[in-house]
Amino acid sequence: MRFATKLIHSANPPDAGTGDTTTPIHQTTAYAYDSAAELESVFAGKAPGYVYSRLGNPTLTRLEQRLAAIEEGQAALVSASGMAALTATILTLCQAGDEMVAATSIFGGTYSLLNRTLRRYQINTVFVDPLNSEAIDDAVNEKTKLVIVETIGNPKLDVPDLADIAAVTRRHQVALLVDSTATTPCLVRPIALGADIVLHSASKYLSGNGSCIGGAIIDSGNFSWPSERYEELRKEFGKFGKLAFMAALRSWIHRDIGGCLSPFNAFLISLGLDTLAVRVRQQCETARILAAELCRDKRICEVNYPGLPEHPGHLTARRQFNQQFGALLTLRLGSKQRAFKFLDGLQQILQLTNLGDVRTLAIHPASTFARDADPEERRQMGITEDLIRLSIGLEDAEDLLADIDRSLAGMRNALS
Ligand SMILES: *Cc1c(COP(=O)(O)O)cnc(C)c1O
Repeated sequence: MRFATKLIHSANPPDAGTGDTTTPIHQTTAYAYDSAAELESVFAGKAPGYVYSRLGNPTLTRLEQRLAAIEEGQAALVSASGMAALTATILTLCQAGDEMVAATSIFGGTYSLLNRTLRRYQINTVFVDPLNSEAIDDAVNEKTKLVIVETIGNPKLDVPDLADIAAVTRRHQVALLVDSTATTPCLVRPIALGADIVLHSASKYLSGNGSCIGGAIIDSGNFSWPSERYEELRKEFGKFGKLAFMAALRSWIHRDIGGCLSPFNAFLISLGLDTLAVRVRQQCETARILAAELCRDKRICEVNYPGLPEHPGHLTARRQFNQQFGALLTLRLGSKQRAFKFLDGLQQILQLTNLGDVRTLAIHPASTFARDADPEERRQMGITEDLIRLSIGLEDAEDLLADIDRSLAGMRNALS
């Protein structure tokens, strides 16, 4: 199956009993059994079955199977949010005294988790420029349990070379987690490039309508876990082989933390997956049109988009992302005051902190999701006082350009 067909049909047949074509919503807390012996064997993992929806639910299972198939992994786990998925993953692999290596340009929420919350538990992260695979090589030591990078840094829009980074992590036999939220499986299948674990915030493109919060982890099933580095997973490896990480994540840490996805949100994400290919293709195309138009506009100081030939990540993106460049772009407008005036002059484009919605969204990172970062951290994240991030939706490009033009024109009047 090709990609768009896979989105519709992979691990997604009509319900065997009723013929339902959309995933039924199993809105239940727990599952009844006829005998104590049956429940005992399900609890012991000796018989298949569901016991309690924090541990598993058929609506979630269907979504997990679809995501594993679409990402070309062996297994997936969905969770209450992207952050819940990431937290559970890290706590599965790391304990006090362990280290991680992460990109300086990662999402602000991830940065806060790594740099603040997890340091309290002696899980420390070394931040490095993900474009410099030698720096990653240098940062990995015997305590490192995970390397974390994003396919497109946000809002820096840098494009790490995933195969290059995977060569480094493979050499050290350390797991590589790739957060592919900004690219979705439409642009890249990170596992094919050497990722061991793929993360998605399903709150973004996967659900697509800005309708719910959710997250997912996909296990490639390729990583060889039994080594001194992952001593903690030795027991799981004995039982589950290459799926040791997923087994530990699902039946231990995720279960204990309790960040489970609601069946209704799993349903919404499943609906979103059906249309992912057409949405993302169109959003990328509109972003490309906007970037090309806006970089000719003298009223804008700088347009940053990996699809522009002069973007430093252009060639890597072209090679890695199936001739598409994502639907995020950033503009620099010269000052915070001008950036705010621009945002306030927009009529159709909405001001809010999200991305991957069918609506086009705009935000000023420095005063919102990056407000806790100090000036040096912001510099490394590529965030300046005059930066605006746009997440392109499904409106017509002409209307978006008209909205931007109108706002820029109003700004000149206001300032003159
Ligand atoms: C939004 C986002 C997250 C966190 O996901 P939530 O669903 O908001 O918890 C993680 N990584 C990236 C790249 C994101 O954009």
